[in-house]
Amino acid sequence: MKKILATVFTIALLVSCSTPKNTANDLAVSNPIETELDLTKVVDDKVPVLINPGRFTQETVTYHLPKVVQGTYAVSDFGSFIDDIKAIDYNGNELSINKVDTNTWTIQNATQLDKITYLVNDTFDIERANTQPTPFSPSGTNIHPENFVLNLHGFIGYFDSLKNNQYKLEVAAPSSFVRTSALQNVGSKTSEDGKTITTSYFAPRYFDITDNPMMYGDLDVEEFEVENIKVVLSVYSPNKIHSAKKIKETVYKMMQAQKVYLGDINSTPRYDIFLFLAEQADGAPHGFGALEHHTSTVMVFPENAPEQALADNIVDIVSHEFFHILTPLSVHSEDVHYFDYNNPTFSKHLWMYEGMTEYFASIFQIDQGLVTETEFYNKMIGKIQMAASMDDTMSFTEMSENVLEQPYARNYFNVYQKGALIGMCLDIILREESNGNRGVLSMMKELSSKYGKNKPFEDDKIIDEIVAMTYPSVKTFFETHVIGTTPIDYTDYFTKVGLKFSESKIETNYIQNAGALIVGANQEAGNIFFNDLVINNSFWKEQGVKSGDIIKSIDGTEVTMQNANQIFQEVFMWQPGKDIKVVLNRSGEEVVIEATLTQSFTTGKVLQQSETATEAQNNLRNSWLKG
Ligand SMILES: [Zn+2]
Repeated sequence: MKKILATVFTIALLVSCSTPKNTANDLAVSNPIETELDLTKVVDDKVPVLINPGRFTQETVTYHLPKVVQGTYAVSDFGSFIDDIKAIDYNGNELSINKVDTNTWTIQNATQLDKITYLVNDTFDIERANTQPTPFSPSGTNIHPENFVLNLHGFIGYFDSLKNNQYKLEVAAPSSFVRTSALQNVGSKTSEDGKTITTSYFAPRYFDITDNPMMYGDLDVEEFEVENIKVVLSVYSPNKIHSAKKIKETVYKMMQAQKVYLGDINSTPRYDIFLFLAEQADGAPHGFGALEHHTSTVMVFPENAPEQALADNIVDIVSHEFFHILTPLSVHSEDVHYFDYNNPTFSKHLWMYEGMTEYFASIFQIDQGLVTETEFYNKMIGKIQMAASMDDTMSFTEMSENVLEQPYARNYFNVYQKGALIGMCLDIILREESNGNRGVLSMMKELSSKYGKNKPFEDDKIIDEIVAMTYPSVKTFFETHVIGTTPIDYTDYFTKVGLKFSESKIETNYIQNAGALIVGANQEAGNIFFNDLVINNSFWKEQGVKSGDIIKSIDGTEVTMQNANQIFQEVFMWQPGKDIKVVLNRSGEEVVIEATLTQSFTTGKVLQQSETATEAQNNLRNSWLKG
């Protein structure tokens, strides 16, 4: 998963997961579980769902919707979106069905169970109204006359031990709908009146239901080839502000470079990108970012993002999601492989799944000439700044293993900051030890050929294995900075590659100074304010903004704790030339700023080649940056 901006304002979630994994009971069902979604019969924004599991030989069966889905590292509770659930016997009568917890139901007399029916509410609808956390938008669901986001784990559940059974899925929808799916399409039929087309899909097991999203409705779709991968880009832009054709150019250039960087690695014949662009309106999602799957990704961005900002963020996010094919999709532990959607255990290795992935998404751009050295260094410095605002003495493996609980959950965002920096330091160590020949890409490829999609590693053994494959200095690094709690001194690593820090004037955006947030949240008072750093942000300084100014509204929208994330994610994408209006509260007095954005600058650290760098240091830098 990848979010674009720190959710510093999000009220974090406390959950305990203590129950051990279920032991499998053998049920005598071997047919595919037949499931149906009827998008033509939506009432009150709810989709009717039918689940027909075949005949059970057991007296009691348990049905679940997922509490947690893979890649999100947070509780989603998809069961809380289910209404009017009924168990029906072979005579058409209702059987009793008991709700055990938010996501679990049990049915007695299950030998008589013919089918289960229920209605599903969408998650996008309540994101803005809800004070409780809702599923991360790219893992959520949308039910709207013009657009359906079918993250299928929001609609279809599983019976206790039948997770490995095959699934058949039929989706009925108006024949006017465009439909794209990452799940294997096995046919379709049109109703007699021609108004409805029912498409049939096949899933080898429940995992594939959760791993293959779909989008239906008024979509703009473009298909193109990248090195033998067919890429299908589906865009929903409700006000037709952005088109798939334009976005395609950005995605093509980037994925082409990624494939060249990755070289000979097994990949999928088809990759789906679902892009949902959200309006500023009730019922629209605001958890901007993306969620990875084996052969697809779902992205949610604000529709009013300027074209260039949208393109930059797509490069940033899609490159990250696509690199997930290396890890965790190919290289992962047993916790990931045998994922329990209701009582998940978590691997210690988010430094790998998210950190390495984020690092690859940055280093490939310099390797392939998509960015300059300076741009790459500035990105790494931004990550150092962001990491410094989180708990830098928290063991990364401990955080990872306990990621649903506090204080770990609120440090999750560090996987994209310090996690990527761990990847960078490892890369430099490997290059140094191998005379420039080995790096983290070759390390991950070695692991990928040893393990791969179908063979998980043992969570407690993988670091020792990596050390055995590489060098003793790698062991010291892991023990000190990944398992251990000692912060990394990045100067040591930059010195190895002949770089030094200096102070300089640098470009920044309107919410950060080179990665450090210039706004803070006062949880008790429920407001957002500019912090001390604002005086070192040239645009705001020129407008006379002072430390402590409370931000009342931005462009006419009142800023609240509920909408702060969304508003500041949009501010994050502001570009020079835009007209803005910001209303501040300065010690009880209203201050109105009306201005046209100019490029903002801050003073901050930059990296440059050291005059005293040796030839060996410069060579090491070249092998690090250019493979
Ligand atoms: Zn990710």
